[in-house]
Amino acid sequence: MIKIALVSFGKIARDQHLPALRNNPDYQLLAIASRNASLDGVAHYKTLEELLEAMPELDAVSLCAPPSVRYEQARLALSRGKHVFLEKPPGATLSEVEALTKQAKTAGVTLFASWHSRYAQGVAPAKAWLAERTIKAVQINWKEDVRVWHPGQAWIWEPGGMGVFDPAINALSIVTHILPKPFFLKEAALQVPSNCQMPIRAQLAFDSDGVPIQADLDFLQTGPQTWDIHVDTDAGRLTLSKGGSQLYINGQLEQEGPDEEYPGLYVRFAELIRSGQSDVDVAPLQHVADAFMYGRRELVEPFEDQ
Ligand code: NAP
Repeated sequence: MIKIALVSFGKIARDQHLPALRNNPDYQLLAIASRNASLDGVAHYKTLEELLEAMPELDAVSLCAPPSVRYEQARLALSRGKHVFLEKPPGATLSEVEALTKQAKTAGVTLFASWHSRYAQGVAPAKAWLAERTIKAVQINWKEDVRVWHPGQAWIWEPGGMGVFDPAINALSIVTHILPKPFFLKEAALQVPSNCQMPIRAQLAFDSDGVPIQADLDFLQTGPQTWDIHVDTDAGRLTLSKGGSQLYINGQLEQEGPDEEYPGLYVRFAELIRSGQSDVDVAPLQHVADAFMYGRRELVEPFEDQ
């Protein structure tokens, strides 16, 4: 059994990591390290430092804080020989992730940069279907209401929080996984509220060897929420809907199932630990970094959480 602790017990740790760990017999949840949150019946420490001092028997940690503190936590855990599961995005910058990758290799432990959307039900069959087709165009529509999904999460508007790219990096994690060729940013427009550091909307245009890939990202979508990727091919249109959980081919529903994203991530983490490997794909984060580096910024009206 892998003795594991959850670090930073916020929304995603509570909603997804906890049930995934409790339902996987490969893991034993030993403790939670979180400044303000705890869980009845599970040992609690305020900080990762205290946890590592008190529980040398720990094998692994899952880091679930916002990305701006990911690096320091990961560096500390790796330095104590622990396997590390990184929530997405794996860091606030690419350099941090590169440094962690090297550190994990030197220490001989597993580093896993998780991309939960890649484990959505429709994604693997979409990848297999596209491998046999000629792709003509891709359209990503990732539009959700930040007030519904991220209430009170002020970190999302600060440097490293990524704004609308916090959810949209999930779309990029899918597209970088299912498309057979790499793609590159050609144009980007980022709309930034005048009281925030990060964009609330963005439009991106990529090119993949002549194939256009467009992305329309919106954090102010009310009513029905949209997490869709359309891929036009020589055999018609593939659509991944609801964040990748539904797969349609030419309008016909081909694949749908229960949400198994986090259970899938923890199966993968255990496999990596057993086989002595790491899995760190920075491609989604590279595209976000490119958008911040190459995008035109436009100031828009201030954002109020309420
Ligand atoms: P959250 O609800 O704000 O929880 C994060 C927790 O991290 C906080 O409760 C806080 O716990 C701790 N924390 C916050 N700021 C910190 C700081 N400066 N230093 C140390 N600890 C800090 O956020 P979340 O929604 O769980 O998101 C966390 C990560 O998971 C993000 O990278 C996000 O992209 C990813 N994620 C979120 C979702 C989602 O639907 N929410 C889905 C997939 C992935 P304490 O105060 O108790 O320390």
